[in-house]
Amino acid sequence: MESNRSRREFLKKSSALGIAGLGLTAMASGLERVASLEEMAGDEVASFTLPPLPYEPGALEPHIDQMTMTVHHDKHHRAYVDNLNKACSENKITLTLDQIMAKVSRFPDAVRNNGGGHWNHSFFWNLMGPPKRKDNAPSGKVAEALKSSFGGFDEFKNQFNAAAMKRFGSGWAWLVKTQEGRLVIGSTPNQDNPLMDVAEIKGTPILGVDVWEHAYYLKYQNKRADYLGAWWNVVNWDTVAKNL
Ligand code: MN
Repeated sequence: MESNRSRREFLKKSSALGIAGLGLTAMASGLERVASLEEMAGDEVASFTLPPLPYEPGALEPHIDQMTMTVHHDKHHRAYVDNLNKACSENKITLTLDQIMAKVSRFPDAVRNNGGGHWNHSFFWNLMGPPKRKDNAPSGKVAEALKSSFGGFDEFKNQFNAAAMKRFGSGWAWLVKTQEGRLVIGSTPNQDNPLMDVAEIKGTPILGVDVWEHAYYLKYQNKRADYLGAWWNVVNWDTVAKNL
């Protein structure tokens, strides 16, 4: 009985406090909102757009054909962007794409797959360009870095090709600069990338190649090695130098 009475008195007091305390409550929630803004980078749900190809879709011919580039960019990449936006909206994600990559394990698979798809393809288009020379090889600081890390461009290419060939199913091969500044080669499955907290190989991507069949099947069918051989002709070493 005593406890019931004291509960009733407590409720009476707290309801009085409730009315008087409304202003305080509003102030407190205002403060909370400011605190979470710092963490979440903004009130607005993230929305991403499909970047245009930095060249005509036929510009990489004959190595990468126009139809592959058109479908790859206009259909596949667009789908990653659309589905990422849907996932951001459903999960009320307000982060930048790089922030999403760094915390991707906290989000549903749709964010990982489509966020990675958007990041990877935006990166990939700029790594390629119209074939210029017969021998498309790096020069300057890129050539020097590949020599000191792998013994030379040919050795680097062999190791990179091996990583791309060994990746079972769909994925990417990467040249990555680790936090310690070392250059390493590796690969990731699906649309994962080395910026993700879940990745086995971590660091800043310097070069990457898409080895999903959609990247080569129309021209090269099952011959991934032929696609890779052709791809080196369209690598834009100026972009690689900037990434380095
Ligand atoms: Mn792709």
